[in-house]
Amino acid sequence: TAPHLFGKRANSRGWDLTDSGDLAEIHDARAPHETALFEVRPMLAGPTAGGQRWEVKNPATGARVGHVLPASAPDVATALSAAKPWDAAPAERATVLRRAADLYEAEFGVFFALLAREAGKTLVDCVGELREAVDFLRYYAEQAAGVTLPARGIFTCISPWNFPLAIFTGQIAAALGAGNAVLAKPAEQTSLIAGVAVALLHKAGVPASALQLLPGTGADIGTALTSDARVNGVCFTGSTPTALRIRTNMAQHMDPTAPLIAETGGLNAMVVDSTALPEQAVRDILASSFQSAGQRCSALRCLYLQDDVRDTVLEMLYGAMDDLEAGDPWHLVTDTGPVIDAKAQTDIQAYIDAARAEGRVLHEARTSTNGTFIAPTVIKVRGIADMPREIFGPVLHVAPWKSGGLNAVIVDVNAMGYGLTFGLHSRIDDRVDRVVSQITAGNTYVNRNQIGAVVGSQPFGGEGLSGTGPKAGGPDYMARFTQHAASQLDG
Ligand code: GLU
Repeated sequence: TAPHLFGKRANSRGWDLTDSGDLAEIHDARAPHETALFEVRPMLAGPTAGGQRWEVKNPATGARVGHVLPASAPDVATALSAAKPWDAAPAERATVLRRAADLYEAEFGVFFALLAREAGKTLVDCVGELREAVDFLRYYAEQAAGVTLPARGIFTCISPWNFPLAIFTGQIAAALGAGNAVLAKPAEQTSLIAGVAVALLHKAGVPASALQLLPGTGADIGTALTSDARVNGVCFTGSTPTALRIRTNMAQHMDPTAPLIAETGGLNAMVVDSTALPEQAVRDILASSFQSAGQRCSALRCLYLQDDVRDTVLEMLYGAMDDLEAGDPWHLVTDTGPVIDAKAQTDIQAYIDAARAEGRVLHEARTSTNGTFIAPTVIKVRGIADMPREIFGPVLHVAPWKSGGLNAVIVDVNAMGYGLTFGLHSRIDDRVDRVVSQITAGNTYVNRNQIGAVVGSQPFGGEGLSGTGPKAGGPDYMARFTQHAASQLDG
């Protein structure tokens, strides 16, 4: 990390959810947006053709949130013809990004409302997400001010529904800060939030020709956005298989130096040894596995417990899981919201049911019966190699240390080919040093939870199947959006 890059200002303040004044402020700011209906349509610097309209429903309640008028493949062509790299001076681009950060903070009420209603985010997650988005804007503004090399040209930015504001904004801010034009395609599940964000970026002063919004499905516009010779780079966060498809499209159609900056999936493990403090480990396991209903690519998927502490830790964990309050994330008491949609619910539930049929479900917490909820669940595995794929929900796998001990665990985790986050709870310093140096992971966390990387101090990104780098929120990220990286890495 390079703290000096972020040294001129602190991270965004956020809100204190234990403070009654802050809670009242949040209540008042989001109240007008509790039942309002939202609409988003393509924001192009040219005429819009449009596709088939769809309705947006709250995943926790089924209530209407609004509707989307999506972009069509012809709209991608229009956007490409109208796109113009942002030719303002670097200092001016920085000023605009900082202004956008201020607007995001001022408009937190609408973001909190939509993050809950469209994305199923609890209030804790709303605060974290808005802060991260604001941090990205200010952090990349700082870097934008110092950019001396030319932009690449036009970037396609494709972002995920699990961080519909933070990752959406971070990708765009980095590409714009470097002086590129951006075609932004949000995940179709969270198009409304993207619409509010882009409107504020435009209001802050980003020209319409430098930032165009293309709400739509991957099936309808994904290929057009990633296989056109006029696109000079793609920034993508989502699944590993989709990243591979994008890579193939790019290889067939784009300049061979066009970068793919991809942040993808993970099969993240945590190791808890017998010297760990059980209460602390349980608190961190709970957050790592079940916060955000497990819908983070950083989330803990496979927990290795040393034999001597296994029963103690599991008993405490099951108790803590039973205390989790599931329900509508609009309510303050809610700890776990829904998974994103009915398809996710069906897939995850089928996985759990199959494990149950094999007698491998160790514990299941309570959940809500409305909406697309999945009960936080613990499943027994022999090791991480038993996991068929990343299960993107509140499902924790628990494995014993094998006879080979900790070394064998590290070898097994590394052998999966992913490398996003890793957690370790131990009070043996030598062990900590050894494991940290041997594990393949972009972000390793010791004696804490393994989610919630902080912009500027914990650059986030994986190795192997988990991503291409450079890490988001770190000092090297923006260079990849300039010609600097073209000459250094590709030329
Ligand atoms: N940056 C997030 C975290 O540290 C995860 C991002 C993601 O899920 O894509 O938890």
